[in-house]
Amino acid sequence: MKTCRLCSSRNLTDAIDLGAMPIAHRMRKQRDEADQRYPFHNIVCRDCGLMQIADPIDPEELYRDFNFCFSSWKPQPHIAAEFAMISRTFPGKSMLEIGSNDGLFLMEARKNGFGPLLGIEPNRLATEQARTGGLPIVNEMLTPALAADLVVKHGKFDTIVVRQVLEHLLDIPGFFKCVDLLLAPQGVLFVDVPDVEQGMRSGDATMLWEEHVNSFTAPVLESALARFGFIVVESERYNFSGGTIAVAARRGAVQRTTLDLEKHLAVADKFAERVEGYQKRLKSVLGRARDAGFGVVLYGAGNRACTLTNSGDLKSLIDYSVDDQVERQGLFMPGTGIPVRSSAALAQEGRPFLCLLAVNNEHETKVAAKVRDLAGAAAHIFTSLSPADIHSELDRVSALLDRESAS
Ligand SMILES: [Zn+2]
Repeated sequence: MKTCRLCSSRNLTDAIDLGAMPIAHRMRKQRDEADQRYPFHNIVCRDCGLMQIADPIDPEELYRDFNFCFSSWKPQPHIAAEFAMISRTFPGKSMLEIGSNDGLFLMEARKNGFGPLLGIEPNRLATEQARTGGLPIVNEMLTPALAADLVVKHGKFDTIVVRQVLEHLLDIPGFFKCVDLLLAPQGVLFVDVPDVEQGMRSGDATMLWEEHVNSFTAPVLESALARFGFIVVESERYNFSGGTIAVAARRGAVQRTTLDLEKHLAVADKFAERVEGYQKRLKSVLGRARDAGFGVVLYGAGNRACTLTNSGDLKSLIDYSVDDQVERQGLFMPGTGIPVRSSAALAQEGRPFLCLLAVNNEHETKVAAKVRDLAGAAAHIFTSLSPADIHSELDRVSALLDRESAS
């Protein structure tokens, strides 16, 4: 019998089952290569509201080839706002980042006058990169033993930063035991996680990723923190990476959180149906476009593009994908074998084509300008990822196809 990863309840029900899916970052070298596939079944806890992957892939297996997804590859325009939030709560100067990646955030902390600083990061390559920047990083997994050891060496920290980490954790209570050891009594815990709220409401399956074993909304996060003795003192949402919630929290007993469990579960219970509805419509629109002589190109070959093409069964409807990460170019997308090319391919398009943007919303303006620059009026660009309104984007394509067939 399964238990909830956050509250240990056995009161779990189905949210959405995407079936057997490949690992998103494991690109094919040959078009027809077989992929290793893994169950991708999401359930929701009816006691705490956490949506979670029922049988996560063993981290040893999942992160085996992890070597190039560093944070500095993604511009993070919201970092300044996150720092402003931490500074407003003014906990003191010492800062520990758990999951410090390549050190981007700690570098920013140094610029903002925080210190002493410390990072914990299990990935060796990311650790080396951060150390090159002069940051002290402990290259280990966080365990209660390591936490106790760090307190002896460094004392407790005024601020603990945990960015884009909680969604990956298989043992959430174990993690908070470590945080409790490491954080000073009056210290501030700063957390950011992906926000799945808009995706759940609009039926966007692409906010699900095999690496994100836990899916948070703002109220679910707030209520999770309360469970471990933290009160949220500030919170903000950013349109970064599909939607991000950031909160600053202090120790204290919470009387009541903003989680309306009944409402939340009603949204979760409709999620699979909404995803199915959107995917059905997307397939039909792309089919119509092809019948009308349009090419169909996907911009992006990352994890959201992988979920979109596999769960939406778009293999036969997309000519190729364009991706700006050189490492992906010349390879094929997992699960579908869709070829990945550089954006130069768009300049060769002789016919009108639909360009489905599968890049996070914060990159869209730049990417759309690039597509127009390369392909001119031949490109009809639309968005396929939330939190943008993916349904009205399909309306726009439908209207275009209506105009085409009328002329
Ligand atoms: Zn639970």
